[in-house]
Amino acid sequence: MTITGSCACGTVRFAIEGRPSALGTCHCSRCRKLGSSTILFVTRDQFRLLSGADHIKTISPRPPYTYTRSFCRACGTALGEPLSPDASFPINAHCLDDDPGVAHGFHEFTEDRPAWDRPVTTEEIAQ
Ligand SMILES: [Zn+2]
Ligand SMILES: [Zn+2]
Repeated sequence: MTITGSCACGTVRFAIEGRPSALGTCHCSRCRKLGSSTILFVTRDQFRLLSGADHIKTISPRPPYTYTRSFCRACGTALGEPLSPDASFPINAHCLDDDPGVAHGFHEFTEDRPAWDRPVTTEEIAQ
């Protein structure tokens, strides 16, 4: 199974071979501000960057933060960490163009959720 994904302008395109290990949402302020809250974990061997490598800008934070995050230089789409040297790394789930075949499975740093962020009720969906 090949799962494809891309940024909003289509410059950065990638493919994932096989089933990703996890998909979930981090509610910490870093992930929220950087626009990669809902992420898909992939391994180095299953991830392939198909185009746009020279258009990826990577941001590194000031200590004590250790994350890095990448964006498309052309459209600003948050990509997660597609250039990470790690064996497993997060990709922005909102960049996926195909169903990854894995259900949303975790929420982390839920204590950092802002006051306005709460579950949507069924009554609200119906309106
Ligand atoms: Zn783009
Ligand atoms: Zn986070």
